[in-house]
Amino acid sequence: MPFECVRGEVDKPQEECGVFGIWAPGKDVARMTYFALHALQHRGQESAGIAAGDGSTVLVRKDEGLVDRVFTDADMAALVGNVALGHVRYGTAGGRGWQGAQPHLSTIGEVIIALAHNGTLINFHSLRRQLIDLGIPFLSDTDSEVATRLIGYFTQNTSHIREGIRKTMELLEGAYAMALINDESLYAFRDPHGIRPLVLGELADGAGWCVASETCALDAVGAHFVRDIRPGEVLRINHEGLVSEQAIPARKRTLCIFEHVYFARPDSVIEGDSVHAARVKMGRKLAEESPVEADLVIGVPDSGLPAAEGFSQTSGIPFTSGFVKNRYVGRTFIQPTQEMREMGVHMKLNPLRDVIAGKRLVVIDDSMVRGTTSKQIVHMLREAGAAEVHMRFASPEVKWPCFYGIDTDVQSQLICANKSLEEIRQWINADSLAFLSIKGLLSCVTGEGYCCSCFDGDYPVEIPPAFAHGKFLEGFEPHNLETASITSHRSVIDTAKE
Ligand code: SF4
Repeated sequence: MPFECVRGEVDKPQEECGVFGIWAPGKDVARMTYFALHALQHRGQESAGIAAGDGSTVLVRKDEGLVDRVFTDADMAALVGNVALGHVRYGTAGGRGWQGAQPHLSTIGEVIIALAHNGTLINFHSLRRQLIDLGIPFLSDTDSEVATRLIGYFTQNTSHIREGIRKTMELLEGAYAMALINDESLYAFRDPHGIRPLVLGELADGAGWCVASETCALDAVGAHFVRDIRPGEVLRINHEGLVSEQAIPARKRTLCIFEHVYFARPDSVIEGDSVHAARVKMGRKLAEESPVEADLVIGVPDSGLPAAEGFSQTSGIPFTSGFVKNRYVGRTFIQPTQEMREMGVHMKLNPLRDVIAGKRLVVIDDSMVRGTTSKQIVHMLREAGAAEVHMRFASPEVKWPCFYGIDTDVQSQLICANKSLEEIRQWINADSLAFLSIKGLLSCVTGEGYCCSCFDGDYPVEIPPAFAHGKFLEGFEPHNLETASITSHRSVIDTAKE
């Protein structure tokens, strides 16, 4: 679980965003989007937005804050139409604040579109400069606005949104799962590696379609899961039906494995895997790989709990609740001193002393980023009388920065890149410490084709030197599995002419 300090010191990788789109004539599409955004709130808490297309224009309401604070009944009443788009944001590329909130609106000439994006575009600086040279104005410095302006620009040139999206996809490099609306249609598309998830759902009785970052958002609006949107595919949905086009060739699939480890809600299904079941398996595997003698297994709420259950099943050590989590502590709590930070941890999490006192504990968490949370947890459990504290993590050591939509893009932040296992054990003051192996993790999910870059440094999409500058520690050489595609070196002007 993340413990919030000042922004940027959260001791867990932070997901960039959640996306939802719906086309359903006659339904209250804005309110359905609002429900779906609630289901996706775990993917971003900085800002939220909803856009709706009413057949003649597109309206957007967005602001900083949680979903239930951003929208009023009056907003819902104003956002009418057959098609809507929603977004929750945790920004990783570009500015914060209202300007960074999505959906982004583009009104180049006659073309009005709104776009919502999950991921990070690693070549957006160069594309932004080219668009500025072409006289295209920007409201923010985000990568997502660059995609919006590019689509608007190419759409105006070609008079076809699908062509605008296709040309844009040819230029973008990095991770993107996007949904877009104009006044009457919904579009959804995914990068050629399929790094970030995006699924298609259908409402009961064929009343409409929706797309979402996770299946839990489909559940929230009573839609059933149809399929994952394919890497490089564009879907268009409107009164003519659903049309699929492979806009650019798919490359080797590298879906983010961290969705299974931590980001996704446990009731979501990714590529056929129940996230909860995958996490239980990770706990079982961890118990096989790193057994320990202990009296109790406890999980760090919430994301460590399924793996703790699995660890208990395989080890035979009883699983119990070791903590009470306070669900009402907001994100903006600022902890300027060490003393206040420790109080902050206690505000969020309190150990059950009567359960813990005198016991040898195995404590399961999903992942370790900076290590500060683990240190505080061990300290808290020892203070509560634990006889031994054995830390186990249901994922491998996070040693490499992520450039595909997660905020861990500087290697010096990552404790496992800076210290040996034994040094970390001593620093967090645990009796023992172990992580799940990469092989073990991959054995808990279905099929092949996962991004594991933050564990092994093998990057599926080449990181441009300008983007990577200063992000790696000395002695760490990332391994690019693929050089950037030739098309990514093409200019905006050349692409417009083709
Ligand atoms: S580097 Fe890690 S967090 Fe980033 S996309 Fe790959 S697996 Fe996910």
